Amino acid sequence: MAEKINPTIIWKKHEFEDEIGYDKFKKSKTWEGNFYFVVGSDPQLGYIWPPKDREATDWQEELDRCIETVEKINALTPRPQFLVICGDMVNAMPTEQDKLNELQVNDFKRVFSKLHPSISLVCLCGNHDIGNTPDEKSIKKYREEFGQDFYSFWCGGIRFLVINSQFYKEHDAEKIAKQQEQWLEDQLIKYKGQRIIIFQHIPWFLDDINEDDQYFNIKKELRIEMIEKLFDAGVSHIFYGHCHKNNTGFYKNLEMITTNAIGNPLGDEPPGLRIVRVYKDNITHTYYPFEKFPCSVNI
Ligand SMILES: [Zn+2]
Repeated sequence: MAEKINPTIIWKKHEFEDEIGYDKFKKSKTWEGNFYFVVGSDPQLGYIWPPKDREATDWQEELDRCIETVEKINALTPRPQFLVICGDMVNAMPTEQDKLNELQVNDFKRVFSKLHPSISLVCLCGNHDIGNTPDEKSIKKYREEFGQDFYSFWCGGIRFLVINSQFYKEHDAEKIAKQQEQWLEDQLIKYKGQRIIIFQHIPWFLDDINEDDQYFNIKKELRIEMIEKLFDAGVSHIFYGHCHKNNTGFYKNLEMITTNAIGNPLGDEPPGLRIVRVYKDNITHTYYPFEKFPCSVNI
């Protein structure tokens, strides 16, 4: 049994309360100048496709890509404000394979705790982290390991909202889903008109707001209602994972960006990370496979 990693390493970081990494951008409600952050998704330790002949407890290949992620990010100059992992940190669902889930979570934490202390780690839950039909028990377990499943923070004058997208897909946790719904309503009212960016695992849609329902999106009726609400509040960008490939879609000028998997891509592009540059009047983003990932970022 691997050594249990203290969950506060990640919890404190994504709460932005680690004094070590504190600088003028962290927690800042006002514009402090250009900055950037890095988006990665789906390290999904334990998932390889097509399946390989390996032990059930062997996820070294995905783990190596996590190690590469940390090394590439730690080597960046200047340092990014944070790294967000858009869900599916691990493959084994706590609702189905709790022991395996624990081992994978521990390995994830062991590797990502090596991130430079000034770079905050923002985690959010994917379906594999809480189960395809999460319940109060699996969400409680996630919270013990990673911290809250929905929350918000300021960085450089931007309001970032992190959402548990499983509540819009399928769940058995009505009480918590209602709490998120109320919290999100409140956030959108309170910060309407400010610069807002959202992180979540499952995309509302991939290419078109009216596209048919499928595994990789959220059902149409709910999707349209929510997207209208987010657009109306002034949300400018939503970053997703879940699809294991890169994709960009628009609703009016609200941009939705899906980022390829760190662990096991299913499209043509090799694993990598996305760099998001935040300027006073716009935001740009570029995906880099690991072998083309830069050492410095012009910002
Ligand atoms: Zn997923």
